[in-house]
Amino acid sequence: AGLSKHFPARRGLFGGDHGVVRAVDDISFSIDNGRTLGVVGESGCGKTTTAKLVLGLETPTAGAIRFDGRDLAGLDAVGRRHYRKSVQAVFQDPFASLSPRMRISAIIAEPLITNEAVTATDVRRRVLELLDLVGLPQRSADLFPHEFSGGQRQRIAIARALAVSPKLVVLDEPVSALDVSIRAQILNLLRDLQDRLGLSYLFIAHDLAAVAHMSHEIVVMYLGKIVEAGDARTLARHPKHPYTQALFSAALPSHPEERREEVVLAGEVPSPLKPPAGCRFHPRCPHAMPRCAQAAPALIQVEGRMVACHLYGT
Ligand code: SF4
Repeated sequence: AGLSKHFPARRGLFGGDHGVVRAVDDISFSIDNGRTLGVVGESGCGKTTTAKLVLGLETPTAGAIRFDGRDLAGLDAVGRRHYRKSVQAVFQDPFASLSPRMRISAIIAEPLITNEAVTATDVRRRVLELLDLVGLPQRSADLFPHEFSGGQRQRIAIARALAVSPKLVVLDEPVSALDVSIRAQILNLLRDLQDRLGLSYLFIAHDLAAVAHMSHEIVVMYLGKIVEAGDARTLARHPKHPYTQALFSAALPSHPEERREEVVLAGEVPSPLKPPAGCRFHPRCPHAMPRCAQAAPALIQVEGRMVACHLYGT
């Protein structure tokens, strides 16, 4: 809740200015057990920083992360170890994330050996179970990563993430590096695993079709702020914020009965070092009004979701 992450800007970065990059600026969200929260936005909108905060790889500048009702900042060493075990990740590039010199059995077993007191027999049994779970043959255990395709490597990365029976898995662009033809297979595997194991997912992606397919709830971020949040189907079908409308109109074909205009986004995402005053989206917004450049809109409830836009409310 109220999460912020600011980074000091180095000289020369973002046009030579000094200052602070507000990568994530006062955002709040929650993920219920067995649910998927999708986080979307263009590059530089704060998605990856959000993932790192949840994984404990970055410390928030302000705000708190609560897990099972407990504040992460107040955990002792045992609590932190438990958290690190309970929250695992699958990253974008299965080619980079698997060590080329390790056998698959050692890759999958690594988090297990690090986090639990296990015998070699337990480890072998668990590795074979995990390979079954992700749809790979048991003989894969003795092979090396280069002997697998991209989709198979992502299955191995998923098996490794599940080795310590996490509750939450952060999926950071998990299919973006894969061939289009196998993306659906991996997404379906992830959904199947969620149903079978009761997993929660934080699904981070710029692929709107994948996010809409996978998520129960969606958070749309722009320059470190949440601009719209709510039920995935509602947001995909009836987006309210002009930025969400632009993202979804470009990504998802409208239902014939729900035709809507395609909104084309002009320009690039501005520098997070000097975000525009007022509504951060105003330089690119087709509906911008004079007050949009002066006052930042509050996140308010509109027709069953939260929106930050002066077009709504008073
Ligand atoms: Fe566009 Fe104004 Fe709404 Fe921002 S507040 S999204 S500029 S209409």
